[in-house]
Amino acid sequence: MTARSEYHHLYNLSAWRRRLRPQHLEREPLCRACLRRGILNDGSLTSAGAEQTNARRRFLVVDHLIPHRGDRALFLDPGNLQTLCPDDHDQNKQRLETRGFSQERGSDGWPIDPLHPANQ
Ligand SMILES: [Zn+2]
Repeated sequence: MTARSEYHHLYNLSAWRRRLRPQHLEREPLCRACLRRGILNDGSLTSAGAEQTNARRRFLVVDHLIPHRGDRALFLDPGNLQTLCPDDHDQNKQRLETRGFSQERGSDGWPIDPLHPANQ
């Protein structure tokens, strides 16, 4: 079972669907990981910057920096969101599942995931 289907009820919340998700995409309309590599990706490109030819992957993911693991407060925290293209989202999730924690860092450079070894 994927995290997505396990927490399906959260993604169905109108607070998420009608407010948080669209508001976040308005604030951050480009993939954050692509932007770090100098690529302006509004969901129409691959993570390498080429045109996304798979129409089913032409969208943007609103991703949680700290995995919410069903925690409603973390899930609905506007500061815990980032925009990713499907490629970067998949890569992120794979790394996360292997390690069990996020390597995202806050503005002070410190890892933000409480499960990161630096915070244990
Ligand atoms: Zn990307």
